Amino acid sequence: MSSASPATRPRVRFAPSPTGFLHVGGARTALYNWLYAKKYDGDFLLRVEDTDRQRSTDESTRAIFDGLEWLGLSWDEDVVYQGANVARHYADAHRLLGSGAAYRDFTPPAEMEQRRAEAEARGETFRFDRGLAELSPEETAEKLARGEPYAIRFKVPEGHTEWYDLVHERIAFPNKDIEDFVILRSDGTPVYNMAVVSDDIAMGITLVMRGDDHISNTPKQILLYRALGAEVPEFAHVPMIHGTDGKKLSKRHGATAVGDYQHQGLLPQAMLNFLALLGWSPGDDTEVMTMPELIARFSVDGLHKKAAVFDPKKLEWMNGQHLALIPIDELATVVAPLIERAGLATVADLEARHTWFCGVLELLRIRARLTDEIVAQARPFFVDAVEYDPDAVTKQWRDAGTTSDILAATHDRLASLDVWEPAAMEEGLRKLAEERGISGGKIFQPLRVALTGLTVSPGIFDVLLYVGRERSLARIGAAVSYLRQAV
Ligand code: GLU
Repeated sequence: MSSASPATRPRVRFAPSPTGFLHVGGARTALYNWLYAKKYDGDFLLRVEDTDRQRSTDESTRAIFDGLEWLGLSWDEDVVYQGANVARHYADAHRLLGSGAAYRDFTPPAEMEQRRAEAEARGETFRFDRGLAELSPEETAEKLARGEPYAIRFKVPEGHTEWYDLVHERIAFPNKDIEDFVILRSDGTPVYNMAVVSDDIAMGITLVMRGDDHISNTPKQILLYRALGAEVPEFAHVPMIHGTDGKKLSKRHGATAVGDYQHQGLLPQAMLNFLALLGWSPGDDTEVMTMPELIARFSVDGLHKKAAVFDPKKLEWMNGQHLALIPIDELATVVAPLIERAGLATVADLEARHTWFCGVLELLRIRARLTDEIVAQARPFFVDAVEYDPDAVTKQWRDAGTTSDILAATHDRLASLDVWEPAAMEEGLRKLAEERGISGGKIFQPLRVALTGLTVSPGIFDVLLYVGRERSLARIGAAVSYLRQAV
């Protein structure tokens, strides 16, 4: 395979059928096309394949736009709606009829079905018979004059059809295995392969990158390009996505719609990074990449042949990596509305305390995988009184008498500090531990519960700093009263 830049300005497309939400597989295909366009300074086009009127919905089209926008996969030019191009698909099919590359088939569908059923009853695989379908010019003229309906079939030539796939290398199909396929139904509607080829030609697509479930369509499409006298684009068929059990990814494996992840508070950059690695790798062990890095490193050479595995745990891990990586102001913008939703503070309040808020986020983001976890861990920094987690109480406050004593001394020692700074806090409390002949942990652990209600939190001095002097002292005082009551 070659990684050489394309000779002409590339034009690629993402062509979803709007029959559901934007699924991770579709988003991944969109991303690869988008990366390719960015990398080689080409165009990334969006085509909504809405020819299946029964199954296509506006809601689904909107969900696709929303998903792409959330991920930042912006498209060039206007969206192409396949359904708006039916007249051209029809004209192209008739052009093939005119040039002799296709013919009219007047066989009633019921008769075709009957032949199929008969073949099956004989235990044979049904083979389409051109000899029965293609009529002489006279017979054709007669049926046309009678106004009989017909489908247009493509006349598959002899030989074989092959292409050099950018993922799978050479792929060849013997043409005898491809029956003369319908390109225009008797009701005048184009079939999928006709519509796609007609549109890809009209849109000037130079590389078709899509799921490898389309490989069997490709020889038919190549035959159509040739018969229409158009240049055949390049093809790259990217692997399917499976669940961790090796089966094709489906609802059984959890959320498969991109929108679900958006609403779970995942960062788009983490989703993109994760999607990029579902079927592609940069050629070394690098996993965490920002968008500019993905663009720089993306190449069709790194696309995999084998199915990719969607592991939700890895997605969470990836999100944690990006939470730690993104500019803190950006994280503040993402988390502020979630803090507001949790009733802890308003976005306006957080803006007024921006530096403080960013400080808290710096403490929390290194431990979190999801923004939800940041919000949960942020609670002690906002509320007036914390709730004590029963497990934390059992573990760290077992002996209420001793603990209240230690916390009371801790309170006084901290209250006596001239400055509210981590170094001074640490020095004061370590001295207290020494005086009492106990380890630092015997002070810090109960103190953590007093300040946060929990057994895990950022470093205790950072917690004191960001909870603030007054609140910290009040909280320790409240813990002492609580414990004294318990004795
Ligand atoms: N509409 C097709 C699909 O959603 C894609 C066709 C193509 O990319 O050629 O599978």
